Amino acid sequence: MFYTSTRDKSVKVTAAEAITNGISAEGGLFVPCEIPQVSKDFIGNLAKLDYIGRAKEVLSLYLTDFTEEEIDYCVNGAYKAGKFSSPAVAPLSELEEGVDILELWHGPTCAFKDMALQLLPYLLTTSAKKTADGKQIVILVATSGDTGKAALEGFKDVPSTNVLVFYPNDGVSAMQKLQMCTQEGGNVRVCAIKGNFDDAQTSVKKIFTSEEIKAKLAENNMMFSSANSINWGRLVPQIVYYFSAYCDLLNQNKITCGDKINIVVPTGNFGNILAAYYAKEMGLPVRKLICASNANNVLTEFLGSGFYNKDRDFYTTVSPSMDILVSSNLERLLFHVSGDDDEFVKDCMEGLSEDGHYTVDKSAFERIRGCFEGGYCDDEATKRTIGKIYKKYNYLCDTHTAVAVTVYFDYKENTGDDTPTVIASTASPFKFSPAVLEAVGNASLIGDDGFKMMDSLSEITSCEIPAPLAAIKSKPVRFNQVVDREEMSRVVLDMLGIE
Ligand SMILES: *Cc1c(COP(=O)(O)O)cnc(C)c1O
Repeated sequence: MFYTSTRDKSVKVTAAEAITNGISAEGGLFVPCEIPQVSKDFIGNLAKLDYIGRAKEVLSLYLTDFTEEEIDYCVNGAYKAGKFSSPAVAPLSELEEGVDILELWHGPTCAFKDMALQLLPYLLTTSAKKTADGKQIVILVATSGDTGKAALEGFKDVPSTNVLVFYPNDGVSAMQKLQMCTQEGGNVRVCAIKGNFDDAQTSVKKIFTSEEIKAKLAENNMMFSSANSINWGRLVPQIVYYFSAYCDLLNQNKITCGDKINIVVPTGNFGNILAAYYAKEMGLPVRKLICASNANNVLTEFLGSGFYNKDRDFYTTVSPSMDILVSSNLERLLFHVSGDDDEFVKDCMEGLSEDGHYTVDKSAFERIRGCFEGGYCDDEATKRTIGKIYKKYNYLCDTHTAVAVTVYFDYKENTGDDTPTVIASTASPFKFSPAVLEAVGNASLIGDDGFKMMDSLSEITSCEIPAPLAAIKSKPVRFNQVVDREEMSRVVLDMLGIE
């Protein structure tokens, strides 16, 4: 199977090339030329396997240039016993009859990004062996919080890789800073910069594309690669857990094979829900994909009208990982629903960068409407939902998940659709203790000390603090460097030990 670019259909690359390069030369995103199709039997067989077995089956449909041994090595490395706190890796938890929560946050950083970032380093190093003579991979990340930590954990001590994370010194939460600065591993480095997230991101992009630095790396048999969410290697692992959730529903006799389900996803960059779209297009029986947004409701408007407009107020919310106005992965959906029309995608993306908006034509919009529903809620509704479902079901969820739960129950009330539903849960509530404490009626316990707030939340709710978050308290701080933006390239070369 081959991959092409959303902005140039004449591009044809293997999975390994798509993963090593991250983004196509003309700026498009890599997409599969055809979406593999599965049968009911395939799903029935998948249900007999554990998560690792399911991942191997689904991934081998997309990574056709990987050998069976290579896929085994990658998947076992990522999801082996002990990496995730649940033996099921991504377990379902029933909220009420017909509504299950798919918990994607049992990995080492307690957010769903681990599902992909635990696997990506293996996919990337295996791909580089095929396409780049086994060069040492250097990963640069600019982070506003969660991605940096998940990348550090994923790449920690993976042979032939280095990972270097830059974060804005005043732009991440105290707990996020601690998570990163206590990072273990011999091939990692974390550095704060004076400036905001955009400064960090712009400078990283500059280093990434600097011919001078790239040449120095090449002399030392090294190359840059990226771990951000437009890399196909981050998307493909996410397809697996939608199949896995369906299999779990089968095994729990909640559905029979062929029954349709709805899937609800709290959405930012449109990566997670796009993986669900691929699962549906492959043949997973899905009625609706419900895209849940916070006050930054650009996607709700788009899915309701076909008009995408980033020119709007930006809100900082209690679900910060969804505070996004340009959802990069939407570009892949546009390609597929337009019948692989690269010119159309190019026009849309040009419109977006030049005018801040674009509108899709009627036929593409109808195809989108056939699969997707959109909805959003504000911070007040998010917190109300956390309190309500904690009281009603004794289930504690984080702010991002609560956005999805709110949007789902609104959808159900408005449509009467009672199709069995899976709601993706993307973070542990302990990662967002202040908002969750307030939501369960204990705002007075909000303070400066992140550990104390986690303790309070645990005492009140009798929920256990995830081990990786509790463990940070006793870990030494390894990284406390703060630099000016101009010094970042020196930090990179310094870490790699080259002049
Ligand atoms: C990244 C993230 C999201 C958004 O996922 P996308 O794939 O960007 O749509 C939602 N919730 C949490 C906790 C996240 O970290």
